[in-house]
Amino acid sequence: MSSDNQTPLMRQYFEIKEKHPGMILLFRVGDFYETFDEDAKLVSRELGITLTKRNNGKDQTPLAGFPYHSLDTYLPKLVRRGHRVAICEQTEEPEDAKKAGKKVVNREVTEITTPGVTLSEKLLDYKKNNYLAAVHFSADRAGVAFADISTGEFSLCRVSHAELSSLLESVDPAEILVKKGLKQIPGLSEEHGYNLSRMEEWIFQGDYGYRELTGHFGTHSLKGFGVEDLKEAHVAAGALLHYMRETQKATLSHVRRLALYNRSAYMSLDVSTRRNLELTTPMRDGGSDGTLVSILDRTLTAMGGRLFRKWLMRPLRERESIQARLDAVGWLLEKRSVRDLLREKLAEVGDLERLMSRISVGRTNARDLKQLSFSLCSVPYFREQLNGVKPSLLEQTAGELKELPEVTRKIDNALVDEPPAGLGDGGLIREGYHEELDDLRDAARNGKEYIAGIREQLIRDSGIPSLKIGYNKVFGYYIEVTNTHRDKVPDYFIRKQTLVNSERFITPELKEVEEKVLSAEERSSALEANLFEELRLEVAKYAGEVQDVASAVARLDCLQSFADVAWRCNYVKPVVNEEDKLEIRKGRHPVVERTLPAGEPFIPNDIVLDCSENQILMITGPNMAGKSIILRQTALIVLMAQIGSFVPAEEALIGLVDKIFTRVGASDNLAAGESTFMVEMNEAANILNNATPRSLILLDEIGRGTSTFDGLSIAWSLAEYLHNKADVAARTLFATHYHELNELEKLYPRIRNFNIQVREHQGRIIFMRKLVPGGADHSYGIQVADMAGLPVEVIRRAKEILVHLEKQSLNLSESGEDQPQGNGREGVLERAGRTGAIAGRVVSDVEKQEEIPQMSLFGAEPNPAMEQLCDRIKAVDPDRITPIDALALLSELKKLADDT
Ligand code: ATP
Repeated sequence: MSSDNQTPLMRQYFEIKEKHPGMILLFRVGDFYETFDEDAKLVSRELGITLTKRNNGKDQTPLAGFPYHSLDTYLPKLVRRGHRVAICEQTEEPEDAKKAGKKVVNREVTEITTPGVTLSEKLLDYKKNNYLAAVHFSADRAGVAFADISTGEFSLCRVSHAELSSLLESVDPAEILVKKGLKQIPGLSEEHGYNLSRMEEWIFQGDYGYRELTGHFGTHSLKGFGVEDLKEAHVAAGALLHYMRETQKATLSHVRRLALYNRSAYMSLDVSTRRNLELTTPMRDGGSDGTLVSILDRTLTAMGGRLFRKWLMRPLRERESIQARLDAVGWLLEKRSVRDLLREKLAEVGDLERLMSRISVGRTNARDLKQLSFSLCSVPYFREQLNGVKPSLLEQTAGELKELPEVTRKIDNALVDEPPAGLGDGGLIREGYHEELDDLRDAARNGKEYIAGIREQLIRDSGIPSLKIGYNKVFGYYIEVTNTHRDKVPDYFIRKQTLVNSERFITPELKEVEEKVLSAEERSSALEANLFEELRLEVAKYAGEVQDVASAVARLDCLQSFADVAWRCNYVKPVVNEEDKLEIRKGRHPVVERTLPAGEPFIPNDIVLDCSENQILMITGPNMAGKSIILRQTALIVLMAQIGSFVPAEEALIGLVDKIFTRVGASDNLAAGESTFMVEMNEAANILNNATPRSLILLDEIGRGTSTFDGLSIAWSLAEYLHNKADVAARTLFATHYHELNELEKLYPRIRNFNIQVREHQGRIIFMRKLVPGGADHSYGIQVADMAGLPVEVIRRAKEILVHLEKQSLNLSESGEDQPQGNGREGVLERAGRTGAIAGRVVSDVEKQEEIPQMSLFGAEPNPAMEQLCDRIKAVDPDRITPIDALALLSELKKLADDT
């Protein structure tokens, strides 16, 4: 519709809407926020509110709106669903607009909230960072920047395209900025579910990013930040800064540092490993129950909680830094009383980082400032507790715990002890802080007393005992007389309004006093607002100092959390060194040991892995024996040690690990067109291509997603590769039901067989959960299925089939092959694979498995034709048969074979 046909209001709406593409515009109309057109349809769908229509000249425009006071309810819902929302307010009073002859009041977008840029407590999780990321690509690299506007953190780095997805997964941004028109985003497909926001191309061009950064930080170059050469990252970081500024419409003075995210300092954990180890999210459903963080995080402050998650996602690789954390934890563990005191006080500390951010961008109130001051007052107490402490990290932390008395003094001098949340109604500033404010307050107060005096005088003069003096916005102060006393109203009262039961009047004297009172009140509120703004700006200057204190408090909180968990859960200090040995005595799974049903003890186990003798542990054992748990607990213990935590074991020697890889369980990725097996192989490929001799690999049931022979062949050859290829010869735990893989121990010096013990008792299995040397040869699958409650008929039939299959498998073995080692109880498919593998004998001959007849599950009945064929062949004496007879015999055998 042409804009000529639109109402002035709608024309104004569409003009503003056009300037905010890709955003939902919440348009303030009186007491409502309204949305129109496509936005209205979307908002009504997302929020479940009614879609109506508004007259727009000749047409009707779809409309959905909600009362202004529901903004706090609806805005977070929209943003959480990934929408970017612009809030457009009326920026003048309707009366003023009318006086100026305007058809509509002025309106402006005053705030934009997006998933990645928000300071709203309703949207932020206090123990999680809320990152905004930006990515810019060159031919072979990606520049990545990420920032959390709610804390002021800002970092950048450069990675290869292949590394991007893992990096982003570890940062877990709420929103990612990319260049408009970018078709292919390497490593980032839609199925990742990221919120992508596309920005104008020019923002990603030339040296705009570099200029944005140097402009913001007021520097000539980025050398001081150690990131001068990361061109792609400058572009990304510049775009990010641009976006934050545009959306916040503020100066971002609290974003004061640009840090290089140095990936090489951290252990690399790929996407699937992070998920498989259930560090912060459980495999099954949401929440955090059953995750490592749910056990380990005993932090008490918001910034401690955020730092804790960062530590967990980024285990360290450098021994000294790990040792520093471990030593600090050790000290705090020993000093129980100090720890208790620290914990008590930490629990009272507010979110210094987010308070400071709100103060810096001006979305704050007097209570934020008070909380900042209160929290800073705890700092000297923390420092005192750490006075003269030996461990270097605690000493350093104590040094960084600066109390900033000038900030607390400024705040406490200016603000009353318990200020109101709102800024507009005054009552924030302390008496005696500002002379003019005190005078105005006196005037307002006196005026009010004066009005009370006038009332008493009028009652006396008029003889109307119920005479009242009230106030409203239209008439200001007025006198109210009920109808009962109407005849007593003096002549000099000026009638203003007649109500059902009363009448309202004014007098010249009342109006005079009113002007004095009101102007004093108005001026005092305005002055309070100014004084508060001055104070805010003053405090905002200390953003850097407060952030430093916040990071020291966060570190202290994380370290005490490690100590507290170590004490509660009986963890020990691991020994970390640069060697290749991993030796865990009586190790436990930190999560499973806490979640087992009451009365069921967790059975600890030992693990020794190294690169010289025990490089690959081939772990077999029945279903449900505890293979996966051993694998995972080993990885978790390593990871815990390398984040600086004590570990669930009696003793642990951790030869530092550079990367942990896991290939665990079955999952598909149908959205990306990948079947379960394809996912499994992708993960295996990733491991073989990226592991180093310093890595730790967990392979849980590799090759199970395909046919037995294919799977076994892959598992076998993969184990050989890991053993033989020097540059990927990583410490590996290999859990498998392919008992044939036990053969590898005889063939390769650094492969060791282990199994998890079970006992059989009256046809039932008892899980001993003990890892012992040697291979297992059966899986007890049917017994486990029985325990799981499969119908009795299914179990009985399965047992019958198993007996048949075992018989056939034994026949096959007896006909000239080596005898298998097992007692014949495992599944025939496994047995068939074993026979093939043993037939192969020479390791590289696995393809000989093709010679093994594929058995039919239901072909175990005796076959007379086959028996006749065998008998006929057995009766032949090849030394005596003539060529003619041989030919005749051949056609006879062919015929017999055709009949089988
Ligand atoms: P499958 O081959 O069927 O996958 P698995 O050998 O990998 O089985 P796990 O998943 O490791 O078996 O363990 C099964 C269950 O046994 C666990 O969920 C846990 O409850 C219990 N369990 C495992 N290890 C221990 C242990 N050391 N102490 C006590 N309980 C344990």
